[in-house]
Amino acid sequence: MRIKAALLDQSGGHALPYDETQPLRIADLELDPPRPGELLVRIDAASLCHSDLSVVNGDRVRPMPMALGHEATGIVEALGSPEDAEFAVGDRVILAFLPACGECSRCKGGEPYMCGAGAAANGEGRLLNGGCRLHDGAHDVHHHLGISAFASHAVVDRRSAVKVDHDLPPEIAALFGCAVLTGAGAVFNSAAVRAGETVIIYGLGGVGLSALLAARAIGTSTLVAIDPSAEKRDIAAGLGAIALSPLEAPKALPALFPDGGADVVLETVGRAAVLTTAYQAARRGGRVCTVGLPNPAERFDIPAISLVAEGKTLIGSYMGSAIPARDIPRYIALWKEGRMPVEKLLTSVNKLTDINILMDALEQGQAIRQVMIP
Ligand SMILES: [Zn+2]
Ligand SMILES: [Zn+2]
Repeated sequence: MRIKAALLDQSGGHALPYDETQPLRIADLELDPPRPGELLVRIDAASLCHSDLSVVNGDRVRPMPMALGHEATGIVEALGSPEDAEFAVGDRVILAFLPACGECSRCKGGEPYMCGAGAAANGEGRLLNGGCRLHDGAHDVHHHLGISAFASHAVVDRRSAVKVDHDLPPEIAALFGCAVLTGAGAVFNSAAVRAGETVIIYGLGGVGLSALLAARAIGTSTLVAIDPSAEKRDIAAGLGAIALSPLEAPKALPALFPDGGADVVLETVGRAAVLTTAYQAARRGGRVCTVGLPNPAERFDIPAISLVAEGKTLIGSYMGSAIPARDIPRYIALWKEGRMPVEKLLTSVNKLTDINILMDALEQGQAIRQVMIP
């Protein structure tokens, strides 16, 4: 079938603003029918994440051309396996950006977020069962993280989809697929934050604010959120955090944390220098959890002795150490109870054709989550 999708022909080398250089173009592509174990999904909301920007600017190297987008929700329109016991035509699904094979040692060990087959498929820009279902004339178009959701339709592996309640507003549902899964998962799963602990969060994008929502839901004591953007700090303050700029933080933190630092520090910016600062902000014996994706060339520099002498734990959190089919319904339940107001992440609802302008806003730190309706 013919679909519309936001296509990236070249990663890196596009000057700013993207509104002028237009790195993404809305293309008419050919989408194959779903193969066994796959779903055809009509996308009804997809949001722009910093990881999309990282493919556009070349920080994340991916095969080109690629149809971008990995944080989305939609309705199942066709099944590759008609006898599918879990999914039916008409189901609402939220898409998760790492399909887990279910067969490897990590999947069987309860760590599907470390699935090697899923990571390899994502790195090669293909679906988990192999190959591309998207074509531009005679050329294959690569899938972004098994999804390619900035599009009218997507064919995904069923292991990329989580069935959820039909009544969720699409523009909210989309956010659970990456921002919430990653940010809340870092707090609930990776760092395993407990009620009453003190927490600092560096970076208030979609992932950082989701981490903040999770920390509030758990019931932390002192909760500090740090970001250069005054607008994002206002949102964090509205959610009950002590919001500081990076310039204010060095002076303010010692008085807020008489133990010499926080129990848990989360780094969601994706810069090694911020991770160094975050590491120093943890108390002796504290936990430092990093969620951001720095450019692969960046190196993280700490005194090696400090891990032992200060008893700190450094935790890398990929996809919030999530089991999507378990965690997404849990986070939705917290949202429905009003305990995790995910709607605070939603900056705007837009048309797919605005995507280059929206990337400029994200690049300039002016937006948290900008949802597009294809
Ligand atoms: Zn993302
Ligand atoms: Zn696996």
